Amino acid sequence: MLDRNNELTAWDRDHFFHPSTHMGMHARGETPTRVIAGGEGVYITDVNGRTSLDAFAGLYCVNVGYGRQKIADAIAEQAKNLAYYHAYVGHGTEASITLSKMIIDRAPESMSRVYFGLSGSDANETNIKLIWYYNNILGRPEKKKIISRWRGYHGSGVMTGSLTGLALFHNAFDLPRAPILHTEAPYYFRRPDRSMDEEQFSQYCADKLEEMIVNEGPDTIAAFIGEPILGTGGIVPPPKGYWQKIQAVLAKYDILLIADEVVTGFGRLGTMFGSDHYGMKPDLITIAKGLTSAYAPLSGTIVSDKVWQVLVQGSDELGAIGHGWTYSSHPICAAAGVANLELIDELGLIENAGTTGAYFRERLAEAVGGHRHVGEVRGDGLMAAVEFVEDKDDRRFFDVSQKIGPQVSAALAERGVIGRAMPQGDILGFAPPLCLTRDEADIVVKAATAAIDQVLGR
Ligand code: PMP
Repeated sequence: MLDRNNELTAWDRDHFFHPSTHMGMHARGETPTRVIAGGEGVYITDVNGRTSLDAFAGLYCVNVGYGRQKIADAIAEQAKNLAYYHAYVGHGTEASITLSKMIIDRAPESMSRVYFGLSGSDANETNIKLIWYYNNILGRPEKKKIISRWRGYHGSGVMTGSLTGLALFHNAFDLPRAPILHTEAPYYFRRPDRSMDEEQFSQYCADKLEEMIVNEGPDTIAAFIGEPILGTGGIVPPPKGYWQKIQAVLAKYDILLIADEVVTGFGRLGTMFGSDHYGMKPDLITIAKGLTSAYAPLSGTIVSDKVWQVLVQGSDELGAIGHGWTYSSHPICAAAGVANLELIDELGLIENAGTTGAYFRERLAEAVGGHRHVGEVRGDGLMAAVEFVEDKDDRRFFDVSQKIGPQVSAALAERGVIGRAMPQGDILGFAPPLCLTRDEADIVVKAATAAIDQVLGR
């Protein structure tokens, strides 16, 4: 096995262009290659037989856990019967049509149709194009700008990378591009004035949004996009009253709301959708990851009845919509989605995300919340984060050169547990599969405590 690993490592360094990886260091062999070979439940195993508890579910996507026979069988069966057919000009398959019905049955009220894609990024591209189409049909060609938030994550394309509000995804790519704007992140821990309570900070965020809308001209703003809980930007739940106050501003200026539920859709917060959880009433919803638990790539844009009615009116004027992907509603991916959504129901995973999630976050806060370099332990459902600070009183970050977040996540990995150093700030994130048990949660908490003590002292 060692020889095989060496061979794969050499090929990897010479030929594999990895996403989100330091290119030079990796090519020079200064960062490790880990070849993952198998997975079962919450565990993955590499080619050397080393097992790790994956407390980030891949990239918060393997919601049902690894090695589910039911989904593997559904994929194999579909591949044998019909590996592919497109969805253009009214075509479909049993799997894709069934899945669209299952999604709408589970979606928040007033949702009407699903447009399928392959990734969260392309689904958000679809959102933008549908919104532009919508406003063109309504005779408002100026109403095209989209407001996103600093620290939001919405993809890596040209438009969706622009929606993303993280410097790493902008710098060196000439992003963000017009017509994307960014407003305040609902990051209560880093609020500008420490005397603000949560409601006051939410009002501050809503006021900032309104100020931007008024300055830009309400007739130029088409939509606002947000993750119900910030994910890649640091796993930051909204402060009390946030979504209610934001939605009031959007309603005042006739601006659509896109809920990016790529992470939160299908159970992660202990509810089917994050919108249900926080009282959001979106006009469009982005879904991906949990839709198939990443057993096959599939995403979707869920369109509300309000938006659909206008789009339909457009087709009567313009003919067929000029927007399509070859792999939209790919039957193998759709079959994986049907089996996955059935499994989530059968195993009661949404309820487990709520109860085991609460248990995990409580244990984590008890174990590390008092550490002198832990500024905050936060999260919701089965999402949690530990934010490290140099000084607890003034909440100062460590100097980035110290790489505290990556160091803690590496120390955790040495203990056989995978967490994620979030890309901006010293934040260790957790988003395990929704089948996590209390015993497994205890393993994660114990390893995290030891890793933090190792890097930052007691
Ligand atoms: N939206 C959110 C909220 C995400 O977390 C992600 C991916 N982490 C995306 C969109 C983009 O999805 P993908 O990587 O599949 O393009």
